[in-house]
Amino acid sequence: PAADITVLQDRAKTASRNRSAAEDEHCKFYDAAFTQRLLRERELNDLFEPSLENGDFQVFLQPKVGVNNDEIGGAEALVRWIHPAQGVIFPSDFIPLFEKNGRIRSLDLYMFEQVCKTLRDWADRGRQILPISVNLSREHFRSDDALRPLQAIASRYAIATGWIELELTESIFFDANSLPNVDKQIKRMHELGFHCSLDDFGMGYSSLSLLMEFDIDAIKLDQSFFKDIARPRAREVISSILQLSKSIGTQTVAEGVKNDRQIAFLTEAGCDLIQSYYYSPPLPVAEFEEWLARRQSS
Ligand code: C2E
Ligand code: MG
Ligand code: MG
Repeated sequence: PAADITVLQDRAKTASRNRSAAEDEHCKFYDAAFTQRLLRERELNDLFEPSLENGDFQVFLQPKVGVNNDEIGGAEALVRWIHPAQGVIFPSDFIPLFEKNGRIRSLDLYMFEQVCKTLRDWADRGRQILPISVNLSREHFRSDDALRPLQAIASRYAIATGWIELELTESIFFDANSLPNVDKQIKRMHELGFHCSLDDFGMGYSSLSLLMEFDIDAIKLDQSFFKDIARPRAREVISSILQLSKSIGTQTVAEGVKNDRQIAFLTEAGCDLIQSYYYSPPLPVAEFEEWLARRQSS
């Protein structure tokens, strides 16, 4: 009651803006955490452009290891924001924000370009080329020619598009309005020679019809899939998905596997690749190269 009316109005607005579309509440109460979050969001938004120019966003690579042969089948590029004053900022703190305001498109293109530079460098140094996958946010699928800038960057660095896999998250397929464009863009990816994978499979209500409708080269099974492989029913479901994928020629990657028991099960069930801290966390490119060299020499 003691607060100024303009302050109260601001807080009421803040509370109402924080009402999510899913909530069917008649009242929403102001909470100081809303303001904290808004301030943090504003801060991250302000830091974005300078950070992009200064190279504070960095590519980290995490290997995908062959289940049967222990060979490295590729790597995923994951963004790390290493800010000189703020330290490391993790993707979970900024990806959802930048997806809301569209900045994710510039960030994804930046990551894509850094990956092309790395591949070019490997080729120039006569090193073995490992395919690298890059995450593409659903924001790209609002536009018709989302792939044009990717193609332009790849050709600027003389990169064979087959060295690059584009990871689309499962949630892209939940928005019925964007589906026709997603379908078109996946076809276009293949015309251009990129590989395409379905990320986070199993996090939402994955539908097998995704595998039927879309020409996807690989599926990445989310770590939530493996938490209860002690249950026979869970094991059967995972085995069937792996077999189904194999029979339609789709590669399978298990993410975030934790222990030998899970690896033994995935080996038996015919999974192709594992991407997990078990082998290596995402590493800066130079450290990733050292990791590879150590592994190949041992
Ligand atoms: P994702 O694409 O599914 O990437 C896999 C995430 O699992 C990474 O988290 C990786 O560090 C983590 N991970 C790998 N192995 C393990 C493990 O054994 N245990 C556990 N607990 N986690 C493991 P990260 O790097 O924090 O990225 C989180 C998400 O942020 C990514 O999930 C992806 O959706 C998004 N993301 C990251 N980089 C980019 C980017 O450049 N562009 C876009 N659009 N999204 C990105
Ligand atoms: Mg991914
Ligand atoms: Mg994933």
